[in-house]
Amino acid sequence: MTPGDLAMLAWCDLGAVLRTRPVPLDRLDARRRHGLGYATAGAAITPLDGLVDNPWGPMDEMRLVPVDDACAIVPARDAHPAMHLHLTHALSPDGVPCNWCPRNFCDAALAALEAETGWTIWSAYEHEFTIIDSPIRFGAVYSVEALRAIAPFAYEATAALRPLDLECFEPEFGHGQFEVSCAPVPGTAGADRAVLTREVLREIARRHGLRATFSPKPSPEAVGSGMHVHFSFRDRAGRPALYDRAAPATVTPKAAGFIAGVLRHIGALSAICAPSPVSYLRLGPGHWSCGYGAFGVQNREAALRVCPSPDRSPEGAAEATNLELRVPDGTCNPYLALGALALAGLAGMRDNLPLPPIVDGDPAKMPEADRRRRGIEALPSTLSAALDALESDALARSWMPWPLHATFVAIKRSEVLAHADATAAALTRAYNQRY
Ligand code: GLU
Ligand code: MG
Repeated sequence: MTPGDLAMLAWCDLGAVLRTRPVPLDRLDARRRHGLGYATAGAAITPLDGLVDNPWGPMDEMRLVPVDDACAIVPARDAHPAMHLHLTHALSPDGVPCNWCPRNFCDAALAALEAETGWTIWSAYEHEFTIIDSPIRFGAVYSVEALRAIAPFAYEATAALRPLDLECFEPEFGHGQFEVSCAPVPGTAGADRAVLTREVLREIARRHGLRATFSPKPSPEAVGSGMHVHFSFRDRAGRPALYDRAAPATVTPKAAGFIAGVLRHIGALSAICAPSPVSYLRLGPGHWSCGYGAFGVQNREAALRVCPSPDRSPEGAAEATNLELRVPDGTCNPYLALGALALAGLAGMRDNLPLPPIVDGDPAKMPEADRRRRGIEALPSTLSAALDALESDALARSWMPWPLHATFVAIKRSEVLAHADATAAALTRAYNQRY
């Protein structure tokens, strides 16, 4: 520790910007109990530095209290100071979890799922990102050359992400596009891990004079970047609860209800998981980002798919089989996405919904009548339409406590308004600067 080391108390806000109030590292322990104060109205700041109408006045204050173990430390190297990142959640001055805090929302949603079903959700996020504004020649996509072109960055990032259980760092389909994924963890820690992974990658890129953007579309012609969420369930005894070898799509009847709930609310989920105007330059058929609210096995054009395991043993397959929601992108708040996903699925379980039709192939290539017969709906094609879907879905409207819901929608509507006349090029430039 050096006297200059700062511990950044940080929170991923409604627009998925990681904000911070730092303290000298040797004062962190003194902040563990009551955290640091912050004006609640700060929750209404937009990713574009605006402030939307909100219910909080000049007196309202929350405490940003560090969450045990939700931290990442990147050691100092050469002229680069260490980065100590400590994620927080918001408590009232009396220690009650604030209901406008995305992390508290996720905690509450996962607790509701657990209380009613006995299930814990395990999640792992795949982060696609693009190196922009760089003269680097990346060579062919997926190539050794592409990876070697950024090897100093990739290797330092790999080391920094080992504590977060890095599983893969690979070149992707786009020029300068890469993907990083970490192993699944139970509960809200999955979203913590997603937030930390993004920020560690940004930090290491900065150290190498690079700019890594998680924007879903770095330029109108670029390959889009998603943040697919892989997830599975375990019961109270810790046993995998998703897989049933003999069942359609190899999912248990309870999991079928969860899947159907997610599809029933996929429009509303789009507003939360693909929450920026630029998200809709990525989302759509033909790019493996998904354009329809369809379910399939292995199907990369489906919004929700089963990812089967190559393990032939029933126990191995049960351990490794998971579901993947493909709608989310790097402008979404991982807590809101995971919490909303859990509540959408829980609603389907409550209603005992049957498994949706298993779609093979690209739904965009099916005749419209076939799609209608199977209940496959196109995803919203703009953020505005996605927000309409969220607001017209009575159940989805009740997922987030009112101050969180209202402020989230206000922030997102303000982004729509701010870019109403923007060209695709201007839109991508604006979001590259923030994500
Ligand atoms: N880049 C695609 C997306 O926008 C995903 C490609 C893949 O399957 O990895 O979601
Ligand atoms: Mg990928």
